[in-house]
Amino acid sequence: MGINPSTPRVGILALQGDVVEHLAAMRSAEVEAVEVKNSRDLTGVDALVIPGGESTTVMKLLNRFSLDRPIVARVRAGMPLWGTCMGMIVAAREVADVAQPTLNLIDVTVRRNAFGRQNESAEMDLSIAVLGEAPFPAIFIRAPWIERCGPGVELLAQRDGHGVMVRQNNVLATSFHPELAGDLRVHRYFLDMLVKQGKKTAAA
Ligand code: GLN
Repeated sequence: MGINPSTPRVGILALQGDVVEHLAAMRSAEVEAVEVKNSRDLTGVDALVIPGGESTTVMKLLNRFSLDRPIVARVRAGMPLWGTCMGMIVAAREVADVAQPTLNLIDVTVRRNAFGRQNESAEMDLSIAVLGEAPFPAIFIRAPWIERCGPGVELLAQRDGHGVMVRQNNVLATSFHPELAGDLRVHRYFLDMLVKQGKKTAAA
């Protein structure tokens, strides 16, 4: 598939986690997707995805590669951010019951590995009004849930009464993995956030 220069360029944070799957899903959505490994890569993208992985490891790596502050600055200036699973934890304001550092970009409290051992991995149909009527096939892998939403946060989906998809302005977070679902509606929702911000590549 050729890359259309009029579409935005989405960065996938590529320090650890399911980067390849995110790159492939974005490309299926016909968007240019590139890896972001350092602050120079970050300057070349219009939006950022933080994938699934291991949140304590990625927080350490963000600090080691001096990417934490530049990401916070870009997102506070309006760059769209989407965190999936580990990415939701990294973006959250706080983690329940542990003193784990985060980037504090969306006003939620998350609980890690919240659905319990028996439910380490599950696929289920979720009803997500912003995506339309058809249920969304949500894949959960040692997923967090949302315990508290601040006043500016929209709760977009729940599983068994627990928040699993939220948005606050330019920041989207999902407990599950739409990049593995074969259904690109969450991608399109995120890309719509990006287009509505009026952010295009310099070539556009
Ligand atoms: N359990 C992981 C964490 O707490 C997240 C799992 C995932 O991203 N699939 O960091």
